Amino acid sequence: MSFSAQDRPQIIKSLEKEYYDIIIIGGGITGAGIALDAASRGLKVALVEKGDFASGTSSKSTKLIHGGLRYLKQLEFSLVREVGKERAIVHHLAPHLVRPEKMLLPLITNGNYGHIMTSVGLMVYDVLANVDKEDQRKMLSKEETMELEPLLKDDVVEGGGLYAEYQTDDFRLVIEVIKASMQYNAHPINYMEVEEILEKGGMAYGVQCKDKVSNRSIEILGDYIINATGPWVDLVRSKIEKIGGKSLHLTKGVHIVVPHEKLPVKHSVYFDVSDGRMIFAIPKNDITYIGTTDTEYIGDPGDAQVNQKDVDYILDAVDHMFPSIHLKKSDIVSSWAGIRPLIAEEGKSASEISRKDELFVADNGMMSIAGGKLTGYRQMAKKVVVAVLEKKEKKSGIKKKRKCQTKRIPLPGNEFKDYTEVKKYKSELKKNNTSFDPSTIDYLVDIYGTQTNEIIKSANEIGGDQPALRLLKAEVNFSLENEMAMTLLDFYERRTGRIFFKIQSINETLEEVLPIMTKFLGWSESRVEEELKQLNDEVKLATNFE
Ligand code: FAD
Repeated sequence: MSFSAQDRPQIIKSLEKEYYDIIIIGGGITGAGIALDAASRGLKVALVEKGDFASGTSSKSTKLIHGGLRYLKQLEFSLVREVGKERAIVHHLAPHLVRPEKMLLPLITNGNYGHIMTSVGLMVYDVLANVDKEDQRKMLSKEETMELEPLLKDDVVEGGGLYAEYQTDDFRLVIEVIKASMQYNAHPINYMEVEEILEKGGMAYGVQCKDKVSNRSIEILGDYIINATGPWVDLVRSKIEKIGGKSLHLTKGVHIVVPHEKLPVKHSVYFDVSDGRMIFAIPKNDITYIGTTDTEYIGDPGDAQVNQKDVDYILDAVDHMFPSIHLKKSDIVSSWAGIRPLIAEEGKSASEISRKDELFVADNGMMSIAGGKLTGYRQMAKKVVVAVLEKKEKKSGIKKKRKCQTKRIPLPGNEFKDYTEVKKYKSELKKNNTSFDPSTIDYLVDIYGTQTNEIIKSANEIGGDQPALRLLKAEVNFSLENEMAMTLLDFYERRTGRIFFKIQSINETLEEVLPIMTKFLGWSESRVEEELKQLNDEVKLATNFE
């Protein structure tokens, strides 16, 4: 499948010429999910994203596809069951990308979770979330917990629970769902900002967008406009109506990244903070990432930054639970800040607000969807598409509802029956490609699945260079030719996650990556300077905290 800058003029031509059943604003996981659901039910779909796909909250999460243990504490059983079931489905849709991860929950003196509540809670969670037998929770004694994670604070740990979660790369999940939607003829495009909602007779009939590449304005017309702009939902709503009734409550969540040797946890740990909250420490290859915070946020979601207070909060929390570690600000190699698009609930603090999603319908017919989680993207999409189909039926009088298909649509790169096959595929690739570094093969399979075949094939066709260099070049080409990477940052952040997890590799690879992108995208000298500045600014943001 080709999805590249070179296809852009053709996509824009279609966007201007065709008439769509639905026009989705926003290319995060919510918009991507709606595009796939709607297109796979035979609807004609356009999706416009003002920045890069996943450039909003959907690349800044904790990157867990989770069963919602925290909802159990809030006694939201139906939500636990729903996200638990969803978690299993999303894992099967892309087992290479949504990977099983055991989570250790240390039980501490005066902590959030006591032994009995955790034991029963995790059991209920296993049942509600339909967890496979071998993955079901294990309750641990103090000795077993300390053996599993010797870095924990010995004098407060009373025991532990070990339970099943899934770790993912949120930005890759978005791009794969976008690519999957294209297999059903959806027309997604990045760097296309919706500036106005077009109305006739009080009803929305299209959007006016600015193509940020050419600076040209275009109009896209269609029956239903879906506002899936996450934390920007109210900003887009405010283009057509005064925000009253239900509205968004934005909160900021921050993660920091340290080299794994600085916090060498053997497992992912979900641990208590002294203010009564819980945060995660998640090991991933050479790094451990830690988060998240949850603080009120006012302003443009695009301006969110990690500040000194956020960093102090996380460092203190680590100090508290891992007393031998002594993490310092200078140990932080990267970080990110995301904005939660929560639905406001009067009298509730950031952490107390439910993560449920909601659909608002404006007088002009535009539907806005917000709240929710990465994990629940398929269910959110279903809700929107069903609402659209019902409206369509009402209008036409023809009953023609097609069922949701997305449970059975494997994401690109998934030719696996289960996770065991992913591991088998990795070992075979390593056996058959001994010149390539095995850890790079692991990295490629984790994020591209069986699309790694194409990358390795193209690396083998590139003559001359060192194997690592050939793989890198092949990876850049893949993201340019198949994943609509338009900027250096698209490649380093939202196609490969290097800025989050391997930030030092940016300097090591830029000399190779820049000329390939410059040539493919036809960048001028001044554009190259702009690109370098944008990348540099983002690296600074990830590593400097005011
Ligand atoms: P976004 O990803 O923000 O997408 C909205 C898009 O709309 C953006 O890309 C934006 O550029 C675009 N847009 C805005 N205005 C316009 C316009 N005018 N024209 C065109 N495009 C526009 N969920 C989980 O399941 N697991 C987790 O581990 C988890 N951890 C989290 C941790 C943190 C710190 C945060 C903040 C959230 C977390 N979540 C998690 C929740 C999850 O990340 C979000 O619910 C989800 O990513 C929201 O996706 P979205 O598509 O609605 O919004």
